[in-house]
Order: sequence, then structure tokens, then C-alpha cells
Amino acid sequence: MNNKYFAEPFKIKMVEPITILTREERLAKIKEANYNLFSLKSEDVYIDLLSDSGTGAMSTNQWAGMMNGDEAYSGSKNYFNLISSAQDIFGYEYIQPVHQGRAAEKVVMPILLGPGKFAISNMHFDTTRAHVELTGARAIDCIVPEALDTKTYAPFKGNMDVLRLVELIEELGKENVGVIIMTITNNSAGGQPVSMENIKNTAEIANKYNIPLMIDAARFAENAFFIKEREEGYKDKSIKEIAREMFSHAHLFTMSAKKDAIINMGGLIGVKNDKELFEVIKGRTIPLEGFISYGGLSGRDLEAMAIGLQEGIDYNYLKYRIGQMEYMAGKLDIADIPYQSPVGGHAVFVNAGEFLPHIPYYEFPGQALAVELYIEAGIRGCDIGSYMMGNDPDTGKQIKSQFEFTRLAIPRRVYTQSHLDVIIEALIAIKNRVNTIPGYKINWEPKILRHFTSRLIPVDK
Ligand SMILES: *Cc1c(COP(=O)(O)O)cnc(C)c1O
Repeated sequence: MNNKYFAEPFKIKMVEPITILTREERLAKIKEANYNLFSLKSEDVYIDLLSDSGTGAMSTNQWAGMMNGDEAYSGSKNYFNLISSAQDIFGYEYIQPVHQGRAAEKVVMPILLGPGKFAISNMHFDTTRAHVELTGARAIDCIVPEALDTKTYAPFKGNMDVLRLVELIEELGKENVGVIIMTITNNSAGGQPVSMENIKNTAEIANKYNIPLMIDAARFAENAFFIKEREEGYKDKSIKEIAREMFSHAHLFTMSAKKDAIINMGGLIGVKNDKELFEVIKGRTIPLEGFISYGGLSGRDLEAMAIGLQEGIDYNYLKYRIGQMEYMAGKLDIADIPYQSPVGGHAVFVNAGEFLPHIPYYEFPGQALAVELYIEAGIRGCDIGSYMMGNDPDTGKQIKSQFEFTRLAIPRRVYTQSHLDVIIEALIAIKNRVNTIPGYKINWEPKILRHFTSRLIPVDK
């Protein structure tokens, strides 16, 4: 694993001070928050790795663009700048801004799906799944089996299982499959990339059965970078050329621009050339998101997105960004701390189940490690494991997750190498007293999406 840090391709002009509490203060804060990281105030967090969504730092150019916001109700110049920027990268004729990724899903899904229909994806992100199910349809994940093996290296663990995809279409009936969704990178599988070959093969199947292929494009630039680095035939292509080729295989895309477009709020819908479909999308956007030339955003936000899209495909930026994950992975290898390998594009998933073997799944190892990282160094990550999975809706019993991860999502252009070192040092310190770390039990929980608001207490040993 490449352990050399690729230095930031930017310098710092403005700083946002962060608080460093003492260990005693952190112990009090986390107790007050009922050991739920979502209940902490962000000002009590030193290094915030809860999400990479909307948490990136905008550039001087983006902030300058904000000052050029044209807040006209219709026909704002920023809208046209955004359309040209997006057309340039995606090669699609039709682009519609919306306020974030789930808004794009809310507009698009009911057009493609309804009761009795199915969406098949390499893996649905949770809001994508929710919007599929809200139409009355069902969401089926169809990821390659190597994604489930956290140890063995595979270059494209985000891929669609294309053989299974064909079986599923045959079983369900092609007229019942409303959409095939390719999520790049595959967020729920740990930010794992999808190869160009896999996108192409999936598109061939979609075309054969006449089913639209939609890209969930939140991390398209990170995916393009992985293709350039790992797939034969792409090392001399630019990120933009690779992005264009990826999108050329699909029919439409939805995108959360809070990730690779490095803005704090925004989203997009793109349609390659299906004018009729785009008319329906525009018609739904107006009541749901606002007039087509602003789509739930201010003019200044549209401008920041137009600029951020281009900054997000800069090769050196991506090399630094993905390099941060690889740097951390290299340090974890040396410290013999288990994580999902190879690391993905936006986060490191520490294998808390293996790191804390004395804590059973029903005492939430991923959550226990997340709490401990806060106590140790003021770092905020989150559980991706049994705590997040919750209870079986039929039996009420705790579900046993396939993995117990603590996710450390890295915001874009926000933290430096020294911050990453603090994270690694905290993990090493925890490793040295691993047997003293308690599991947790739930004191109170809501019926759905409990991980956001539950109250927990440490289990006495
Ligand atoms: C974040 C994300 C979404 C939802 O986007 P929001 O901007 O959070 O609404 C959808 N799909 C993927 C893959 C995402 O990462």
C-alpha cells in the first residue's frame, strides 16, 4: 500500500478554528449525549468524520462565484453556467438542478417505478432505496460477491454482478424492472469503485431488455480516478474523458452534488437525449423543487456547483483526496488494525467487529469504537453495523449485521495530514487498551432510523 502522503494541491487562505476539549470534558459531553454521536454539538468535536456529504471546503473561485449570484426567478445566468459546466463533463443534452440527491430521486423514481415494479442496483444508497419503496416498488441489490470479503484485494469491489442481473431480470420479467441503477462509487459497499467494463456490460444488458440504465453519480469523479489508476487502457485518459465515457453508457443520472461537486448543498438530474423523459422531469421539478432554472437552489449555489464540478475532476485534487484514504490505510496496515480493504474513495471503514472481539454484535462494536474515538481524541465517526441496522420489523429482534464497521468519512479539502495522524494515533492508543472498552445497550429507541436518536449506556463488565 502506498504510504506516501500526496500533499494538498491548495494553500489555506481562511481558517475555521476548532475546539479541543479535555478528556474529562469529552467524557461529560458524550455521557450528556447518551453515547449517541449524532447528539453531540459539532462545536464539541475536534475532527468531524460523520459524513463527507456537504462538509467539503469551497475554493476561492467558488466563493467568488457566490458573489456573482444572479437571484432572478427565471433565467439566471448562473443556471446557464451550470448547464454548460455539467454538459461539458457528462456529455448529456439535458440537465436539471435540484436541491440535493434525494430531491433528484424524488423527482425521477415515480416516473420509472410504481407498485409491482423493481429497481435493481449494484447497491442502493439508503435514500435511493427509500424513494424506490415510496413508489410502491421494491429495491434489489446485486453486488459482486467479492465485495463481502473485507480482506482480499479486488480492484473494483463496487461492481454489479452481471450474471445475477440477467437471472433477476428473467425471473422478475423485464417489463417489471423499471430501472437499473449503477451507483458510482458504490457508497454502501464502502465507496468501492465500479469498472468501465462493468458499466459497459451492465448497459448492454439494460439495452437488450430495453430497461433504462440510471447512474447514481454522487462520487463519479472518484470513480473515474479509480478507473484511471486501476483499469487497463485508461491511464492516459483524462478524468473528464473517463467520466464522459462512463455516462455515455447510461440513459440518465441522479446526483448528490454535496460530494464530488464540493458544495454544501445541491443536486442534479441528467438525461442523455430522451427529450420526452426530460419534459416529464421538468414538469415534476416545478411543483417539487421550484422553477426549472433554479431547482430549489439560490443563483449563488448554482454558480458554486458549476465551478465545483470542474474542480472535482482535477487530477491532482483527486490524487490528494484518494491519497488521504490510502495514507490512512497504509498506517493501519503497519499498526495491524483491521479495516475494509482496499479502502474506498471517501471513507475508511475500521472493522470494529474484529478490532473489539470481546464485544458481541448486540452490544454494538462499531458504535463502541466510535464512542471511544470521541473520548480518546474528539473524533466523530459513526457505526455502520448492527446498531445502525436496528430491529427486525416483524420479530422486533436485533438484526445481526454482516459487518461491524466504524466509518470514518473524510470531508473534502478540510483536514490535513496532521489531522489524519491524530486519527491513526487515537486508534493505536485504543488498540493498546482494547479490553477495557465496553459494549453498549440501548436505553430508549424510536421505531425507525433509531441510530440518529437512540439513547445508550455502557454495559458494565
Ligand atoms: C448522498 C447520496 C445520495 C443522496 O444525496 P443527498 O444529497 O444526501 O440527498 C444518493 N446516493 C448516493 C450514492 C449518495 O452518496
